[in-house]
Amino acid sequence: MLITSLASGSSGNSTLVCSGSTCILVDMGISVRKTQAALQSKGVDPKKIAALFITHGHSDHASGVRAFKRAFQIPVYGTYETSDIYVEQRGGYGGYQEMGVELDNFIKEGEDRQIGDLSIEAVRISHDARHPVAYFIHNGNKKVSVITDLGESNPLLEKRVGECNAILIEANHDPSMLERGPYPDMLKRRISGARGHLSNQQTAKVLRRAVNEETPVLLAHLSKINNTPQLAIQAVHGALRESGLKTERIRAVAPYNDSTEIRL
Ligand SMILES: [Zn+2]
Ligand SMILES: [Zn+2]
Repeated sequence: MLITSLASGSSGNSTLVCSGSTCILVDMGISVRKTQAALQSKGVDPKKIAALFITHGHSDHASGVRAFKRAFQIPVYGTYETSDIYVEQRGGYGGYQEMGVELDNFIKEGEDRQIGDLSIEAVRISHDARHPVAYFIHNGNKKVSVITDLGESNPLLEKRVGECNAILIEANHDPSMLERGPYPDMLKRRISGARGHLSNQQTAKVLRRAVNEETPVLLAHLSKINNTPQLAIQAVHGALRESGLKTERIRAVAPYNDSTEIRL
């Protein structure tokens, strides 16, 4: 099984998960050209992607969906509330740059979707978009997570994280960098709030409860302005060491279009 970040952070997110002959993408916040280049560097033909799953409608996760669908005719999955149908019915949301996504299939929490060799479960998370989710992807043997954009954890999420053989999870900001940084107060409050993003320390707490020493972790969606890969890794290392766990398997995805992978 392979999990790799094609792009991560507020300038665009996309994650590739493959097992056997099946590959899926989670989120499409980058251009077709960037996606194509990133997939080709992994030896994956974009036409072979079986499905695209969307976590939520914020533009850094969904802005590339329309062009991607047009280019490759790949079915797109997401919650009903993320869809363009819902957005049209309900009008604007008034929140953070959210867009309706052209979906082909609606997913529900707790329901496993079988796509080739992969089974995909959506778990609700707390974030200021319509019905955002994290995905847990299983190939019958190993399970991996794609968890980005959440303000706080929840018991079901942590239960699922504990079942994972590899974890991709956001470590968005260092609280003191955010506090001292250039963002307006309203945005600072949004980011650090319960429907915003996890700080390095919050991510560390989730991992501390859930991982064992064998679990490789990719820290993702790091803020370019309010975090560094070193700070994110340090925070998680510190928390895990306190629990007596070794920490060699933790890596941070740099907040650029960096491609970092875990193979299981
Ligand atoms: Zn978001
Ligand atoms: Zn995001």
